[in-house]
Amino acid sequence: MSITAAMPTAKKRPRRTRTKRVSHLPAIKLSRLLPSHIDLHDPLKPSLVCADCETWVPITGMQSKTQKLVPHHTGRADVAAAIRCRSSNRLVEWDLTIPEWHKALTDAIKEAASRTATTVLPKAFSPATDQTLRARAQRTPAGRLADWNTVLPGVAATDAHRQVVPAGDAPTQSPTVPLDKLKIGH
Ligand SMILES: [Zn+2]
Repeated sequence: MSITAAMPTAKKRPRRTRTKRVSHLPAIKLSRLLPSHIDLHDPLKPSLVCADCETWVPITGMQSKTQKLVPHHTGRADVAAAIRCRSSNRLVEWDLTIPEWHKALTDAIKEAASRTATTVLPKAFSPATDQTLRARAQRTPAGRLADWNTVLPGVAATDAHRQVVPAGDAPTQSPTVPLDKLKIGH
């Protein structure tokens, strides 16, 4: 079957959704996927290769209790036909921590590199990013607290900065406005 202009084409995939729908298919276990089919480089914008349609699909719900694949069509946006993938809204089970994934990926790349000498290894995370990843990977109250502890000093500094009134703003030459004598209607 060929695709004509009259047929709807696949929609762009949303990065995150709020839909409550959950697929009836069993949850996708990260540990069952190839590390190269998971992308957790940005823990807030993870994605994985959907086993059904074999394309990259964002995972939504990183800030909530459950994580799912976003609803998606099977093919490339604007090109393929609008066919809904059966793994839309499918739950994702985090049975793999982000450091574990990163190690598995690095190992897989190293192994490939030993066969083909030209492969470039991914850059190591900075210590700050690594700390954030570890905290997030734990997905426990302690982990979330560690997340907040990482960002709070920055937030506090910004707030404090915002409250500082520059000394030069007070008019030094003009007379003081007699606020206590101001009356409306006179
Ligand atoms: Zn899919």
